[in-house]
Amino acid sequence: MQVSAIIAAGGRGRRLGAGVPKQSLELGGRPMLQWSVDALLASGRVHEVVVAVPAEWLAAPPSYLVRDGVRLVAGGERRQDSVANAFDAVSAASDVVLIHDAARPFVSAAMIGEAVAAASESGAAIVAVPASDTIKWSPSTPDDATAAARTVERTLPRESVYLAQTPQAFRRDVLRDAVALGRRGVEATDEALLAERAGHTVRLVAGSRRNLKVTTPEDLVMAEALLNADSNASAAGASRDAGLRIGSGYDLHRLVDGRALILGGVVIPFERGLAGHSDADALCHAVTDAVLGAASMGDIGQHFPDTDGQWRGASSVDLLRRAVAMVGERGYRVVNVDATVVAERPKLGPFRPAMAAGLAGAIGVEPSAVSVKAKTNEGVDAAGRGEAIAVHAVALLERVRR
Ligand code: MG
Repeated sequence: MQVSAIIAAGGRGRRLGAGVPKQSLELGGRPMLQWSVDALLASGRVHEVVVAVPAEWLAAPPSYLVRDGVRLVAGGERRQDSVANAFDAVSAASDVVLIHDAARPFVSAAMIGEAVAAASESGAAIVAVPASDTIKWSPSTPDDATAAARTVERTLPRESVYLAQTPQAFRRDVLRDAVALGRRGVEATDEALLAERAGHTVRLVAGSRRNLKVTTPEDLVMAEALLNADSNASAAGASRDAGLRIGSGYDLHRLVDGRALILGGVVIPFERGLAGHSDADALCHAVTDAVLGAASMGDIGQHFPDTDGQWRGASSVDLLRRAVAMVGERGYRVVNVDATVVAERPKLGPFRPAMAAGLAGAIGVEPSAVSVKAKTNEGVDAAGRGEAIAVHAVALLERVRR
């Protein structure tokens, strides 16, 4: 299916109060009209864009309009005259013709696709949004001389009210009828109205409040805000591309008699120690799981199973060192680690710097990149009753190479 788009940008309107016509007003450093042209061509649905511009532009058009897929015609007195001129220039091979406002920079490919599909099926379709404000009908206009003359005659049922946006899409024969009606003198603020008058059915497809028309200084402020929100979102996407990854780890070991208490490779004086294979260093185990988890590389039990004799005597600091080397082979380095040790006794506060240094040495980072915190569990559950020590940890990895 061949699809042409028309942008009516023939106006010299300076409604925004700026010194330039509103289609040339800049949003994020690009003229409003360029946003619309770019969006249509980037949608993948539009084969050509015919832009009706002020006649004086034709001799020396702005560079963003001099490109493949874009043709320029002189605009007319009114919007509908500009559309009519552009329609005459549309490729004869086009099945569907879209009409879009120069001042709607945020039109999406999805809206364009839906409008084209609906028009191709039913003859005409417009992008529209349900009204969110209650609509009052008054015979007076905002320009009427006295405020006292402006009164509500009736309230329209809001659930039946839609606000028309663009694009508006038409099968070529339907738009031909609409344009002909306009040429015979019927005034219209949009082409859908002409199509309705010509007896065609116009379907509604979902628009968006993002698809705003920039016609007032407040609209421009909102458009800039939307653009900033978008660029913040894509910056977040870029940081994902930059390869920051977070992982969490958890471990718990029972406290038993006759064992040394080792946390972060530090032997801590206490009458009991943690049960388990090797040194049962729950702090190293939780951090190891966080590091492996950040790289989606499984967990400690998978890489260093205690059923495997070669790990039976290994120190947990060494297992952590090996895990860091494994993620390193995948191109990641550890940025920082934060861990919380939950132990009712002994008091771990005095050992925090030594535990952090032990972990930092195994990981190969500065001690300042490792944080170890100690908590009690207020006497409740196994850790609180002094039956076990639990550790929670997070690790952040950064990709250093692909
Ligand atoms: Mg463990």
